[in-house]
Amino acid sequence: MIHSLRPVIISKLPNVGTTVFTVMSALSAQHNAINLGQGFPDFAMNEELMELTNRAIRSGNNQYVHMCGFPLLRERLSEKVNKEYQAIVHPDSEITVTPGGTYAIYTAFTTILQPGDEVIVFEPAYDSYIPNIEVNGAIAVPVPLSFPDYSINWDAVREKINAKTKAIIINTPHNPSGSVLNDADIQSLRSIVAATGIFIISDEVYEHLIYDDKQHLSILRYPDLFERSFVCFSFGKVYHCTGWKLGYCIAPEPLMKEFRKVHQFNSFTCNSPMQIALAEFLKDESKYKSLGSFLQKKRDYFKDLMSQTAFKPLPSHGSYFQLYSYADITDADEFDFAVQLTEKAKVTTIPVSAFYKNPINNKVLRFCFAKKEDTLEEAADRLIKYLQTL
Ligand code: PMP
Ligand code: GLN
Repeated sequence: MIHSLRPVIISKLPNVGTTVFTVMSALSAQHNAINLGQGFPDFAMNEELMELTNRAIRSGNNQYVHMCGFPLLRERLSEKVNKEYQAIVHPDSEITVTPGGTYAIYTAFTTILQPGDEVIVFEPAYDSYIPNIEVNGAIAVPVPLSFPDYSINWDAVREKINAKTKAIIINTPHNPSGSVLNDADIQSLRSIVAATGIFIISDEVYEHLIYDDKQHLSILRYPDLFERSFVCFSFGKVYHCTGWKLGYCIAPEPLMKEFRKVHQFNSFTCNSPMQIALAEFLKDESKYKSLGSFLQKKRDYFKDLMSQTAFKPLPSHGSYFQLYSYADITDADEFDFAVQLTEKAKVTTIPVSAFYKNPINNKVLRFCFAKKEDTLEEAADRLIKYLQTL
């Protein structure tokens, strides 16, 4: 008998399971629940953008576009950010279109990280960051955001900085909390990195989903910070087409040069018709300028409905999300309560503990309010009825 040797994988991510978004969406479908968990809209994307995409496909734009992204799209993006954030971004050397914002962040990490490097990550953190760091052999150094306003304690950051600190990843508006960075945060970040070789990865996928007259403080506004930054965006969030998985990274030329070395041998380029359609669509800035008020109305509508329950809203000034405390309802663990609500109330949420490396229980769940009013009404109704049974 011949004994063949079998290959064995030494996992690069031994502690990682399936992402909470997939787990909760599957559970939601299984129980026919309303899915306010994973962040995606349930309303239609813009008709004109669909039409432009159709037209791009039908007129034969179905082959590879430039490795860094459709040139006209990059031009339009540079015009947009230069105006919006008073920046000077060059379309040829400083913008790369990517298959989603997550990929842009992953590529930025892969570009800069060496084994043993440390990266400061604010927790709760979008769930791809830490695995992205660890798959590169680097070490995530979590810094907890203050509860319940999820602001940054910059003294705690200072304490974690050392010679191994390679980068800090920031996210504004923040997922899952909806907190946004202010001028004082930018000043603190500035003073911390100024005399160091620390890179910044800035996740700004919710740049236009910002409420209560807050201003989005993009890193692109600050030349001294931009010179050490990879700034990551997503079309999915801005144009209600999360399934398109299209985004882009903006970084100064020397950083972008290295980013592109990684990108060109990974996805190489992204789908062409959607880039062509977006280049045309971006000409009209009213499309993204109206997003804040459109989604703020949804946040407030849902908050009104939820005021009939014992769920207590935490402040959210941006993103698709509103956190609710259930401390007045039960002592249950967040994941268990989210499962219970899916199974029994038929409403799915995301436990915020999923955004921590070492889960803690603040008794908060994340609700996605980027939904039709009918959906939000039905979800609140189900929750009201279910809570009466407890
Ligand atoms: N960062 C954050 C904080 C997000 O919530 C998302 C949402 N998916 C992304 C990045 C990535 O977006 P994309 O779907 O374009 O990869
Ligand atoms: N960004 C979305 C969220 O936070 C989901 C993205 C995903 O499913 N990976 O819900």
